[in-house]
Amino acid sequence: MTAPFSYVRVTDNADAVLDTVTPESALIAGGTTLIDLMRLGVMAPTRLIDINRLPLARIEDTPAGVTIGALARNSETAHHPLVKAHFPALSEALLSGASAQLRNMATTAGNIMQRTRCPYFRDIGVEACNKRHPGSGCAAMEGFARQHAVLGGSNACIAVHPSDMCVALVALEATVHVRGHYGDGVTERVIPIGEFHLLPGSTPERETTLAPGELITHLTLKPSALSARSVYVKARDRASFAFALASAAVALHIEGGKIRAARVALGGVGTKPWRSPEAEQVLVGRFGTHATFEQAAAAALATAQPRPDNQFKVPLAKATLIRALERSRDLT
Ligand code: SF4
Repeated sequence: MTAPFSYVRVTDNADAVLDTVTPESALIAGGTTLIDLMRLGVMAPTRLIDINRLPLARIEDTPAGVTIGALARNSETAHHPLVKAHFPALSEALLSGASAQLRNMATTAGNIMQRTRCPYFRDIGVEACNKRHPGSGCAAMEGFARQHAVLGGSNACIAVHPSDMCVALVALEATVHVRGHYGDGVTERVIPIGEFHLLPGSTPERETTLAPGELITHLTLKPSALSARSVYVKARDRASFAFALASAAVALHIEGGKIRAARVALGGVGTKPWRSPEAEQVLVGRFGTHATFEQAAAAALATAQPRPDNQFKVPLAKATLIRALERSRDLT
């Protein structure tokens, strides 16, 4: 049964929200993660602050780039003309996630902040989960780990990051804009998306660099020839409403047959949305052949540490990445 909580709705002043946030409270917008976890007893905030009516839902073309509001719904973002024209990988990633109904509710900030789908994390009958109860152990280490990470794991946690959207954002080098109390008053902090999510290390309960009381206001993405050729490929157990077993967001800029710039990020295999500078290094300056793509895929997975249940993810991730590279190449 869900623990008792109070509810307050804020309407028009994002900065005023920051004064009301306490460690026991939680911000709610689409609620597609939070309500689930409250029903399961995994999260039990004593106060919900509904931010749906804050003016943070716009998607705009600005001198700094395309901005996507924290409260823009995933479905609106996926179908927005600016996103489809300049960041097709983001559109494809969003449309590959969840269901149409969930995408209509889920927001940009909620997607960035979504929690892992590790079944042991979501089952309060299981005691050993360092993410839920720091220091309690990790049931997945000796349990069923088919869905778990092969990159970025630690002795404390091997939970995979579930977001499709964030994999595209990492490849597109988005920045996350947050507001909070810093010294003299409320100001903005800008965080590259690649630095936003944390590796589990010895503190898997800390998942992002967002500090208590900070509010995500929007993302910024810069359009480029590279971003316009970005693609997202996802492998999963069924064709819809399934999390990635492996995915790849890729962007290639090719001139004169040679790859001049490359962005590679992987999903479904890492404890955070996984940028691969190793693969990018292999690609730049080379012709976009199958052999080059195979070498890039090998570099991307070179440090993989699969468990017996998820060894299949290594060849699957390589094949997914190669397919994404071929799709991006063929757009030029
Ligand atoms: Fe908890 Fe992480 Fe272990 Fe899953 S993998 S049981 S989330 S500590």
